[in-house]
Amino acid sequence: MAKKNNYEKYCSFCGQPGSHSEFFIPSPLNGDTFICSNCVEQINMMINEFQNDKSEKSTSKFNTSLQNIPKPREICAFLDQYVVGQEEAKKYLSVAVYNHYKRLAQKTDDDTEIEKSNVILVGPTGTGKTLLARSIARLLNVPFTIVDATVLTQAGYVGEDIESLLTRLLQAADYDVKAAERGIVFIDEIDKIARKGDNPSITRDVSGEGVQQGLLKLLEGSIVNVPPQGGRKHPEQKMIPVDTKNILFICGGAFDGIERKIAQRLNTHAVGYVSGNARKRVDENNIMKHVAPQDLKSFGLIPEIIGRLPIITNLEPLSREALRNILTEPKNAIIRQYVKLFEMDGIKLEFTPEALDLIVDKAVEYKLGARGLRSIVETVMVDAMFDAPSMKKKKFVVDADYCMQKLREANFETQQA
Ligand code: ADP
Repeated sequence: MAKKNNYEKYCSFCGQPGSHSEFFIPSPLNGDTFICSNCVEQINMMINEFQNDKSEKSTSKFNTSLQNIPKPREICAFLDQYVVGQEEAKKYLSVAVYNHYKRLAQKTDDDTEIEKSNVILVGPTGTGKTLLARSIARLLNVPFTIVDATVLTQAGYVGEDIESLLTRLLQAADYDVKAAERGIVFIDEIDKIARKGDNPSITRDVSGEGVQQGLLKLLEGSIVNVPPQGGRKHPEQKMIPVDTKNILFICGGAFDGIERKIAQRLNTHAVGYVSGNARKRVDENNIMKHVAPQDLKSFGLIPEIIGRLPIITNLEPLSREALRNILTEPKNAIIRQYVKLFEMDGIKLEFTPEALDLIVDKAVEYKLGARGLRSIVETVMVDAMFDAPSMKKKKFVVDADYCMQKLREANFETQQA
């Protein structure tokens, strides 16, 4: 602090003499108290910083804090509300997501770096892969997007570039880059970009290895320049750099025919290395349960991609019982949605248990899985929905006969057969 003299006035904050600053402002309350312009500037900066910080926290509608990440059991219990069955997939996914966010919370100077745990879900179409990923994003309140791997191509080909995948995430995050960098991307139909044979091809393929190589860059974690409007229609747009290091990628695919690869592998092992007694009994009805990285490689995914998707889990085909539960149990179950719709018109809608059984029977019969349930219920209900707002009655019961009649009228059976 400067040495004081009796004639000089001093800043009451920093103690510097008034002659050291451009302005020197007296307090309106007290003639002995002053503040210098240097202190005013500093305080101003601090206020601005505080306000920016506050507005960043309050304007993002997404959860950018890592506190209060739910524990795996809590994540699983949340998923139970939306997804019927698929216990194994739920468990793997809950752990993967929990670890992912723990990893984000890890201090940067820590020696043991936790690696990213991208997930691959293998299972028939319509068994809940997308629903699982969507439900996770809902729980965590992070930006979420679904992309179909089939539309992705190598740069230069007709289709979407790999970067466009992040454009969608940015859009889902309302262009809040920080939030997008902690989001979740679900890549559907990843099996469709598999190389067609186990041998690397020497010719370039539009939807095979080149796309996988491009995808690898994103999965590994790198800074990618993303066109905010997507596509190549706006060549003048300013790219936004997005770091993919902390984005969680969940991939899904039906991998039709992978059962044969799994069976082949299990068979060779049985002959080659495992003695008769030690050999585990393989459940032939659910051979997918044994899916392993080697099978994905035999199917045509490149080893580097498989290495970046360390968590593999499978979804089971939906049983009759599961389909029946899907109709009524989940929080936004199809039947509940229709009940709600009718309730808005003041009508109490009811389905008899026989009607529900029939809907499930039809979904099984036509091999439509869970996706089919909705189209069947829609077909059954369309006339009732047309008339409901003008109906006089306060209750509407859908029984098996009514279902059958409506399905016949709509030629549903011949359409689907
Ligand atoms: P995919 O496995 O092809 O990604 P989806 O998750 O898109 O299948 O499922 C299609 C629809 O079927 C969902 O919107 C949901 O209504 C229903 N569904 C599928 N599987 C389940 C399930 N296990 N639990 C509840 N609903 C399901």
